Amino acid sequence: MASLCFPIADIPEEGLEITRQVTRDELFLDESDPGTQNDFTVSACLNVADGNVRVQGEFVGTLQLDCVRCLIRFDEPFRMPFEGIFLAKENGRSPAPKVNRQTSEEPAVELEAYRIQDECVVLGEMLREQVILSIPMQPICNSDCKGLCAQCGENLNVKKCSCPHMDAVSPFSVLRNLVKSSESSPSS
Ligand SMILES: [Zn+2]
Ligand SMILES: [Zn+2]
Repeated sequence: MASLCFPIADIPEEGLEITRQVTRDELFLDESDPGTQNDFTVSACLNVADGNVRVQGEFVGTLQLDCVRCLIRFDEPFRMPFEGIFLAKENGRSPAPKVNRQTSEEPAVELEAYRIQDECVVLGEMLREQVILSIPMQPICNSDCKGLCAQCGENLNVKKCSCPHMDAVSPFSVLRNLVKSSESSPSS
């Protein structure tokens, strides 16, 4: 976690610009978290105001996701801007306080709030939330993905299979077959 911990004493008045490689371990992500096989890059600016620290930046990386239709793993690049504020200890985080921007030219915006830990801004939790937010619930490799055949499991993006598909059978042909079989049944 060392590389994601920034002592407030080291942040100059004009702000601190950072760019860091971030590993999955630093974000407390494990194998069971989807899409997090790769490392990420964070660039951010830290500014101290009234003992609190504003953090603005961008989080860039590539998620590895499994398509819910064809089950193939694919890469999904993402670029996520983020902004948050780290509050001095006495303000706490529970329940999460909402802090308004104090600049007069911008409308008040609610920022995600975190707690300053031991006089340090620790970005791990904030970045972890960014990754979790960017993972889609139903990843699809391509909006045209045809998925797998429900009968033989063939990946239909790659190859057509020869299974009869339900939608190829019209209700009229079923009816016609019923009529034929009743016509051909022997009459007493
Ligand atoms: Zn797919
Ligand atoms: Zn098939």
